[in-house]
Amino acid sequence: SAAQQDAAYFHSYNHVGIHEEMIKDRIRTEAYRDAIFAHQEAIKDKVVIDVGCGTGILSIFCAAAGARKVYAVDASDIAVQAREVVKANGFSDVITVIVGRVEEIQLEEKADVIISEWMGYMLLYETMLPSVVCARDRWLKPGGLMLPSFATLYMAPITNPDRYGESIDFWRNVYGFDMSAILPLAKQCAFEEPCVEVITAENVISFPILVKRIDCSTVTLEELETVTTTFSVPSIMRAHLHGFALWFNVSFGGDASCLPKSKAASNGTIPLVLSTAPEDPPTHWAQTILYVYEPVELQQDNLISGTFTMSQCKENPRFLNVHIEYR
Ligand code: SAH
Repeated sequence: SAAQQDAAYFHSYNHVGIHEEMIKDRIRTEAYRDAIFAHQEAIKDKVVIDVGCGTGILSIFCAAAGARKVYAVDASDIAVQAREVVKANGFSDVITVIVGRVEEIQLEEKADVIISEWMGYMLLYETMLPSVVCARDRWLKPGGLMLPSFATLYMAPITNPDRYGESIDFWRNVYGFDMSAILPLAKQCAFEEPCVEVITAENVISFPILVKRIDCSTVTLEELETVTTTFSVPSIMRAHLHGFALWFNVSFGGDASCLPKSKAASNGTIPLVLSTAPEDPPTHWAQTILYVYEPVELQQDNLISGTFTMSQCKENPRFLNVHIEYR
């Protein structure tokens, strides 16, 4: 049932390891911290909702930036620890920790700012953004600030001969014997599901394709059910196509869709960007790779075209169905 799926989802956030991984991801956590202090004017003496506060880290940054009130909401048991952390740091008067689903909270006032770290693998895995949208529609004042403000999902064809050799070609010669009979099973086991792993700019064989740009202030639930794009990009080199990589960035204030590389602190014009692109330092999101079962030999300027579709799984909306057609 949906309730059981939700319980399992929130249970996964009880474990300290997942919070440790996120907090130790300095690219992630420092981007949020910098964004909060870059927007200090909008936060100081204002009301903030932290959707999915986890250990409370973002709420504490907001309190340190001078928020008058922070509602820190989490449906996972980790919120119990968040409350203790808040107290130990002397922020109990400012930060109110609410244990519960953000969809069900009752507040005495509306908020000026919503902050949330809702991004999953390939941006939308976990389907947490709809909860943020729900909080926005119920509790954000008109014209209030969403942090992050924009999210952009990209895709590009990639080559990854090392990875392909290690998992697949390996079976062609095992201690001098031919185990190619294993190849179909090896491909299925390695590549049936998207792989979360780090690649670099060298693996990318075309310019990136923009899959979806999300304005967090206006995005609707319907818009998030299915994301689809058609593409046609030239290969920039001679290589074997091994699959397609997906990655995203989010920006805090402004519109980052044209500035995926900008790291500049916000001065009011340049938005702060948290990027998970292959050309940028890796984060705990790595990249998400959809490997193809048969590599395709490409010459420079060969066109790679097709359609990509990602939709929430009907049985469990936390999961995604991913479909790609290419030629
Ligand atoms: N803000 C923290 C944790 C981010 S992880 C940090 O930046 O380190 C996302 C958190 O959101 C998880 O702890 C999860 O339990 C919580 N969450 C997800 N959906 C939620 C919902 N609908 N209501 C309340 N909490 C939610």
